[in-house]
Amino acid sequence: MVKSSRDTIYALASGAPPSAIALIRISGPKVTSIATATLSIGLPKPRQAALSEFSDLSGRLIDQCLAVFMAGPASYTGQDTLELSLHGGQTVIDLAVSALTDAGARLAEPGEFTRRAFEAGKLDLTKAEAIADLIDAASPAQHAQAIQQYGGALADLYSGWRQSLTQALALLEASIDFPDEEDAPERVEAPVLDLFRQLISELEQALESGEVSERIRDGFQIVILGKPNAGKSSLLNRLAGRDAAIVTEIPGTTRDIVEVRLVLGGYLVWLSDTAGLRDTSDKVEAEGVRRAMAKAEEADLRIWLVAPEESVPEAAVPEDLVVHSKSDLAKPRSVSRETYSISSRTGAGLDDLLDAIAERLKSLSVRSEAPMITRARHRNAIEGALKELGRAKEMLSDGYGAELVSEHVRIAARQLGSLTGHVEVEEILGEVFSTFCIGK
Ligand code: GDP
Repeated sequence: MVKSSRDTIYALASGAPPSAIALIRISGPKVTSIATATLSIGLPKPRQAALSEFSDLSGRLIDQCLAVFMAGPASYTGQDTLELSLHGGQTVIDLAVSALTDAGARLAEPGEFTRRAFEAGKLDLTKAEAIADLIDAASPAQHAQAIQQYGGALADLYSGWRQSLTQALALLEASIDFPDEEDAPERVEAPVLDLFRQLISELEQALESGEVSERIRDGFQIVILGKPNAGKSSLLNRLAGRDAAIVTEIPGTTRDIVEVRLVLGGYLVWLSDTAGLRDTSDKVEAEGVRRAMAKAEEADLRIWLVAPEESVPEAAVPEDLVVHSKSDLAKPRSVSRETYSISSRTGAGLDDLLDAIAERLKSLSVRSEAPMITRARHRNAIEGALKELGRAKEMLSDGYGAELVSEHVRIAARQLGSLTGHVEVEEILGEVFSTFCIGK
């Protein structure tokens, strides 16, 4: 069957059964006939919860439910929508689903409800993505960012840029349309160049602060570095609360990188345990050391773990955290810089270390007060627009005609338009909505 937005779709919008309630959402042109065929009360009055019996087409009772009907266009999808709250058992759901299929509806694709909302003009793409992020948020920081984006932070920014581009285009068009006015090209050059400069700097700034927004969404990278046997795996396990890394007394046990996903200080982080840093003739271990160094390079935060008797590694820079391990065994050597002291065995000092990590992540996040770019799709669009604007600016300065310059401005506008979906680009829609869960 070819899928169309005229199909009537249904999906389980609540969590996996068994659950107290199973919410089944139905949306599309057949909602009225489905309600009439399956509900003992027929089509409920719009926006009023109504108790009803729900039966299959042969009249066999499936369950009693609470039914809410939202008449289009005043609904999430813009179409007639019916929500049925049934009891959340697997068989109830299975029977309900086959009744709905018999009545002419089909199972929704991931994100199809929200896609319909987008197509009905109820929300732009950044808002649709914010809904997906809100559902997926694993940390308070991700949640806060998703809420801000849902509130239109990115869309507002974009509409400001879009206005500047339109203004530049209008000026350029004017100089094309009135070629008789001898000085027209010169008169528009300065204001258009100003607009270009301003926009370029704003886009560059957005890209820069966007790195943090992307990190908040995807997780900060924290790596634990140190010599073999410093206690790195024990620390990771302690923080992760499970045995993710192998802990042994034989130096060089962790040969590759072990990563765990955690929420620390309200932020999603990927914490990596690395191979102990030492010169080694073992090929596999040497590769582990090389990977550890590469990982350390790109990490947002490095934690150097040093045994009590060891001194602070030379490679530790002021932004890194230096932590003495095994405080239950011995007092650390006195050192010149601020260090932390922990015992993975007793748990001593871990709270202070966690506070310090949270503090670092917080200061890394300050630059992203307004989430600008939260995913690679946004970054690509802005980078593309920036390239075109740079070219347009160069051409205008080099005395190229307004027609040629405006072509690049138009491409830039299209790139930025793809952020919110103000262009018809089928692939973008597919990309955005395929990551949704079914029923949203
Ligand atoms: P890694 O090589 O740096 O990953 O070190 P491990 O985590 O594998 O630990 C090496 C050894 O030190 C193991 O025998 C651990 O049990 C021990 N160890 C790790 N942390 C502590 C600690 O806080 N206190 C004590 N007493 N022993 C520890």
